[in-house]
Amino acid sequence: MIGSTVEKLMLENRDTFLIPAANVANVMEGNPLEHGLLVLSKVGYSKIPVLDRQDHFVGLLSLTAIVNKMMESTKIDSENLSGLTVADVMETDMTVIHENWELEDVLHDLVDAAFLPVVDDENVFKGIITRRELLKAVNRTAHELERENVLIPKVTKLVLQA
Ligand code: AMP
Repeated sequence: MIGSTVEKLMLENRDTFLIPAANVANVMEGNPLEHGLLVLSKVGYSKIPVLDRQDHFVGLLSLTAIVNKMMESTKIDSENLSGLTVADVMETDMTVIHENWELEDVLHDLVDAAFLPVVDDENVFKGIITRRELLKAVNRTAHELERENVLIPKVTKLVLQA
């Protein structure tokens, strides 16, 4: 279990952990798969969230899944994507976290995933938490722990507030 003082230090900038939905590249589950390939190529990410028309989170679309569909024994043929939609190849077995997430869960889940989709009670997509943002907080906390003159007054304040 993470100590409450370290947790408070880590979460000082809690708001910065989330990349809000408006800034996250996504595709719709009903989009043609060729469109999904174009979006992934354009944004330069290998995996992005898939939403339904009501902005619910429904899965993840990866470049790997699309390339696997295009692969034949000796070549890659984009014609193999014709007639398929994003929903046909999206991954649905992934960890999703609630917008009222706990640090312990995020730390644990980001070991195995580069990012975590964040949803509300109705499964509406709120954004993502990436390993990069989490590592920034770890980095900041690690540096603060070394700076005794900063840490002791800060920890004293956090303990008094508890
Ligand atoms: P990062 O930790 O910034 O490298 O991001 C990890 C992964 O999160 C990326 O490889 C993407 O799959 C996803 N990601 C990060 N930022 C965005 C974004 N703005 N839109 C869509 N996906 C993103």
